[in-house]
Amino acid sequence: MIRRSGKTRGSRRTPVTDFECVCCRAAFRFCWSCRCGFQICQACMLENRWGLTCNNIDWQCPDCGTWNGYGNQ
Ligand SMILES: [Zn+2]
Ligand SMILES: [Zn+2]
Repeated sequence: MIRRSGKTRGSRRTPVTDFECVCCRAAFRFCWSCRCGFQICQACMLENRWGLTCNNIDWQCPDCGTWNGYGNQ
């Protein structure tokens, strides 16, 4: 249910955490995120890096297949 509510910031009391990792289900102030709503925390990203990236410059979203850069966040 969290995936579609990307624009609700400010309508409720803003939580300290902005992201929820789809992998470990924990909330974080930072996650690697894809435009489709996929979010993964730093720890899970590192753990799954072998499956998400092959060059450590871009990572591929397992949900939609979009390539996202590591550098822009
Ligand atoms: Zn995680
Ligand atoms: Zn995606």
